Amino acid sequence: MTITELFKTKRCVFSVECFPPKQTTQLEKLQAALRAMGLLHPDFISVTFGAGGSAGGVSTVEVADFIQKELGIPALAHLICMGNDAAKAAAILEQLEQAGVRDVLALRGDRSPSRPESPDFSHASSLMAFIRARKPGFSLHGACYPEGHPEAGTLREDVENLRYKQEAGAEHLITQLFFDNMHFYRFLNLARRAGITLPVSAGVMPIVRRSQIERTVALSSASLPSEFTRMISRWQDDPAALYDAGIDYAVRQLRDLIEGGADGVHLYAMNDAAVLEKVYDGVRDLL
Ligand code: FAD
Repeated sequence: MTITELFKTKRCVFSVECFPPKQTTQLEKLQAALRAMGLLHPDFISVTFGAGGSAGGVSTVEVADFIQKELGIPALAHLICMGNDAAKAAAILEQLEQAGVRDVLALRGDRSPSRPESPDFSHASSLMAFIRARKPGFSLHGACYPEGHPEAGTLREDVENLRYKQEAGAEHLITQLFFDNMHFYRFLNLARRAGITLPVSAGVMPIVRRSQIERTVALSSASLPSEFTRMISRWQDDPAALYDAGIDYAVRQLRDLIEGGADGVHLYAMNDAAVLEKVYDGVRDLL
């Protein structure tokens, strides 16, 4: 069954994100983590595109290929505009096709001084149009932002811009991580009113270490509700207690989303199979 079909048949699609390591020597470690994650039977696993693929590390295609061939789980390969022109994007699409990967999460990519703008793709939707023309058999997926993309003037404007993705042929959206489900429900309401009919997976990241807050959470611009900041300040000097509290927070967030009718939940598991197992244990009865 394709990823798109899953959304038509399952009450809530359960998926996981992983990232390719920067060093090829770390590939075996990732493969071991993916094997453990595979035992939980996620409906699909997405693989990010970034430094690994472009700086000589492990490529997105290589990891997606492993997920499909070794684990028998559908893979969703991320592909970004930044740093890629039409020729590079076409070459990656060929590699994906040869590996049997047909699902692409098309993104613009974050702006960074080390990554040149694409001369050919200004937005995720232009990359989607390119993929659609070049590989009509591929399924397209896109990103969305419950609190609004940082570059958009308003949340409403950002939601309106999702129409470009829908019109370019996207079949499903995955949200940026968030810690307050109220943002997700408000966003979904706005999106449906703006005519966005695509299924939306809610992105949740279990925060189990202090360092994650400084790095990942800051990058995502997600706002931190008081219940979350209280949890961090209470357990910040007790790593074991923070770990348990972070798992518990993610489980409560996910249970509410699944019971609230989310089309899918997407776990930003940071290649950590142990965290994923614990979180999954807390929600498996609902999936
Ligand atoms: P776009 O859809 O191009 O949107 C960017 C901005 O432009 C928004 O403000 C939007 O409102 C506006 N906009 C969109 N279309 C138009 C238009 N046609 N005309 C005018 N304005 C428009 N980054 C990576 O580098 N690698 C990854 O693997 C990766 N995976 C991600 C996965 C998910 C689920 C998410 C949510 C993000 C991911 N990112 C990744 C980060 C992402 O690349 C950044 O958030 C980036 O800044 C925006 O990407 P986008 O695809 O949403 O861009």
